[in-house]
Amino acid sequence: MTKRDYYEILEIPKNANPDEIKKAYRKAALKFHPDRNPNNKEAEEKFKEAAEAYEVLSDDSKRRRYDQFGHEGMRAGADFHGYQDINEIFSSFSDIFGSSFGGSIFEEVFTGGRSRARGRSQTGSPGSDLKIRLKLTLEEIATGIEKKLKIKRWKMCDICEGSGAKAGSSRTSCPICNGTGEVRQVSRSVFGQFVNISTCTNCNGEGRIIKDRCQICGGEGRVQGETTLKVNVPAGVSEGNYIPLRGQGNAGQRGGPPGDLIVIIEEEPHKLFTRNGEDIILDLLVSFSEAALGAELDIPTLTGRARLKIEPGTQSGKILRMRDKGIPELNGQGRGDQLVRVNVWVPTRLTKEDKDILRSLSRSENMKPKEGDRSAHSDKSFFEKMKGIFS
Ligand SMILES: [Zn+2]
Ligand SMILES: [Zn+2]
Repeated sequence: MTKRDYYEILEIPKNANPDEIKKAYRKAALKFHPDRNPNNKEAEEKFKEAAEAYEVLSDDSKRRRYDQFGHEGMRAGADFHGYQDINEIFSSFSDIFGSSFGGSIFEEVFTGGRSRARGRSQTGSPGSDLKIRLKLTLEEIATGIEKKLKIKRWKMCDICEGSGAKAGSSRTSCPICNGTGEVRQVSRSVFGQFVNISTCTNCNGEGRIIKDRCQICGGEGRVQGETTLKVNVPAGVSEGNYIPLRGQGNAGQRGGPPGDLIVIIEEEPHKLFTRNGEDIILDLLVSFSEAALGAELDIPTLTGRARLKIEPGTQSGKILRMRDKGIPELNGQGRGDQLVRVNVWVPTRLTKEDKDILRSLSRSENMKPKEGDRSAHSDKSFFEKMKGIFS
């Protein structure tokens, strides 16, 4: 496959200024972000492509070289690399992403600490990260919870202790690259001499090869296995938050460092409650007499039942606030409230006796709205009403 033009990838003109480049990259990265395109290989490729284009075009000297020599010019530079691991993209460009993914609970996921040493100097190749989704109920989110996760992953081979070599067999220097892990090729063109450094394919860049392979893992230094892990979820998390578990991803090959396990929080819809930030919203049905005379009701909250006072003369649509019955702030001190929207329930099955009582009640002028009040409840949305009430 031929490499696409970096300007084309970001959909910008050749004379785009740094701000335009940054904006275009941000747009592409958001569009093709793996979290928005789960299991979509094509999007992942585009995501990497955009990151690569941005790395070059956002750097003055790399951009000049690219403008002059194209992709060929980039290959000659030792300071340029393609992206293998999506997480490298996150760590390189955290300033661009800022908080737009609203993501990690623990900032460092996207702000460094993630760049791993690249091959060469260490043995083996690093293990990949694993991502798993963890569903939580609002009740679990309100209190925080310890969860057990059952995961399938590569783990270090116990027999060869990750080396991939058979017991007693040693590793010898790779004859192709003489132990450097790199193969250099010099090419000449009208622009001058280019040194192309590539990873030695004989030893995968490790510089050493195994004489006799471990029979259990076939020289991989790792085997597939199933593990149960515990993860502590703090109270107040929301959909899309991440919890990174360092070193709990796949084991590396032949003793390479393990990847991370990234736990992504998912919020299960609740049959009674709706979440709005730290607040919890509940629709409550009350009888006409409870609304007219006032009442004390025992109603559900995320942490068990609680008393709610209905004042005499409470109208349908009124929102009552139960302080601190919502969700705790993540990493904060405060707590949201439970907002209860009162709905006056209208009976649908009436006996003749019931009807007689209602008819005699309705003779009182106090039982119906005044002419001018009938249209008091316009068709505003719930949230609009809330804004009006609480602002
Ligand atoms: Zn082994
Ligand atoms: Zn080699």
